[in-house]
Amino acid sequence: MARGVGAAVAVVILLAGIGAVWLYTGVTSFEVERVNDDVYVVTNGIAGNVGVLRTELGAVVVDTMTFRLQGEQLRELAEELGGGPTQAIVNTHYHRDHTHGNPAFALGARFVATQRTRDYLVYLDADYWDGAAAGTLPNRTFDESHEMKIGGKTIRSYHPGPGHTGGDLVVLFVEDRVLHAGDLLFNREYPFIDVRAGGSTRAWDAALSRILRLEFDTVIPGHGPVTDRDGLLGFQRFLRELWSEVEAAVKAGKSLEETLAAVDLSEDADFEVRSIPFVMTRDRDFVIRLAYAEASGELRPIAVPRSTAGRRVPGPELGRAAAAKDTEMEDLRS
Ligand SMILES: [Zn+2]
Repeated sequence: MARGVGAAVAVVILLAGIGAVWLYTGVTSFEVERVNDDVYVVTNGIAGNVGVLRTELGAVVVDTMTFRLQGEQLRELAEELGGGPTQAIVNTHYHRDHTHGNPAFALGARFVATQRTRDYLVYLDADYWDGAAAGTLPNRTFDESHEMKIGGKTIRSYHPGPGHTGGDLVVLFVEDRVLHAGDLLFNREYPFIDVRAGGSTRAWDAALSRILRLEFDTVIPGHGPVTDRDGLLGFQRFLRELWSEVEAAVKAGKSLEETLAAVDLSEDADFEVRSIPFVMTRDRDFVIRLAYAEASGELRPIAVPRSTAGRRVPGPELGRAAAAKDTEMEDLRS
C-alpha cells in the first residue's frame, strides 16, 4: 500500500516537473523578427506581440508580455536590439499579456498608456499592481493622443475609440511608417472582445476606420503575424460581418443557441483557432457568444473610477497628425 502511494506520488512529482519544464520553455522562448532597419517584433505563443524601436538613445518597447520573467528577458533583448537601455515603455491596453512584464523595467522610466488603461489596471487588476509594481504603472497618460521624440524618432500614440477594450491605443513609429495596433488587430485570429472593460464589437469598426487614416505601411498586430493595411481591412470586414449577423439575430428574437446555429461567417476563412488550456478557446463560437452578449445587453461595461492621472501630455489629433502645430512634445534629450 505504502509502496503504491509512493509510486503515485513519484508519478505526480514527475508530471508536475514535466509540466513546469513545458511551461517554462513556453514562457521563455521568444522569436525575433526584423520588421525594418529600426523596428523588431518579439513574439511568444502565450503573450501579446512586443514591438521594439531602435533609437539613437536606446529602445522604445511596446507591451511587455504576461510574466515578470518575460519582462526581464525583454528588457535585455530590447537593450540589444534597440541600441541601448529602454527609454520608454508603451502599454497598448490593460490585459496582463501586454502589461505584466512592466515591473521588470526600471522604476522611474516613462510608461505611456491611455488614462483608461491606467484606470483598468488600478481597479480591475489591483492585486498585481500592489506594492513595488505600482511604480511601473503608466505614468504618462492621455485621453486622445500622445507624442514623444526620442533619439531621432517620433513615437505617436492614439486612442481611436472603443474596440477590444475601452482604452486601447495604437502606436505609430512615424519615420519608419510602422504601426503597432495592439489588440485592436488580431491578425487571422478570433479576437477577444472585453465588453466589461468598455470593449465593443459594434464600435470596433469605427476605431479601425480612424486607425486607417494614419500614415503607415506595416502593421504589428497584438496577436498573429506582421501584416499591412490590407490585414486591418480584412479584420474590419470580419467584425462588420460578425456584428451585422449577430445583431440581426438578436433583433429577430433568436436565442443564443439559435444564433450560434444561424450565424454563417465567411470573412474568417483563414482564421486560426487559438486555445490556452483551461483558460479559453478563441474560435467562431467564442466571438459569436461575446457579440450576442453585447447585442442583447447581457454584458455591459462596468463603471471604473478614474485613477490618479499620470503626467498628462497632449499630442496631435488622430488623422490630422501632420497638420498639428500646437503639440507639446516630450523630448528625452531635453
Ligand atoms: Zn488584449
